[in-house]
Amino acid sequence: MASDPDCIFCKIVAGDIPAEKVYEDEHAVAFADTNPQAPTHVLVVPREHFTDVADLARDPQAAAGLLAGIRAYARQEGLTDFRTVFNTGAGVGQSVFHTHAHVLAGRPMGWPPG
Ligand code: AMP
Repeated sequence: MASDPDCIFCKIVAGDIPAEKVYEDEHAVAFADTNPQAPTHVLVVPREHFTDVADLARDPQAAAGLLAGIRAYARQEGLTDFRTVFNTGAGVGQSVFHTHAHVLAGRPMGWPPG
C-alpha cells in the first residue's frame, strides 16, 4: 500500500501522530478537522496515499472505498444532509496533498461556495 513518509495524513492513518478519529474501515479513515468550518467537519481519507481526487480516480477500488467510507460515516452519525468537498489544486485551496473529502454539516450552507 503506497504511503508517503512526509505526508501528515499518512501519519494520521498510521497512528504516528494524534487525530480525533471518528470512523475507520479497511479502505478509509475519518477524523475531525482541526480548523472546523461547520459543527460537523471531518476529513475522510483513503488509507493509501494519493495526492488528490484525480489521482485517486486512477484506482477504482480505492475510490469506491473512499466513497463507501463517506457513506458509512454519514450513516453512523445519522447525517442526511451534508456537503462533501474535494479541493483539487492549491489554486482552489488544497493545502494537504493526500486525497481527502471534507464532510460538512450542521449549519445552513450557501451556494455557490466561496
Ligand atoms: P485542504 O485545504 O482542502 O487541503 O484541507 C486540508 C484540511 O486539513 C484543512 O481544513 C486543515 O484544517 C486540515 N488539517 C491540517 N492538518 C490537520 C491535522 N493534523 N488534523 C486534522 N486536520 C488537519
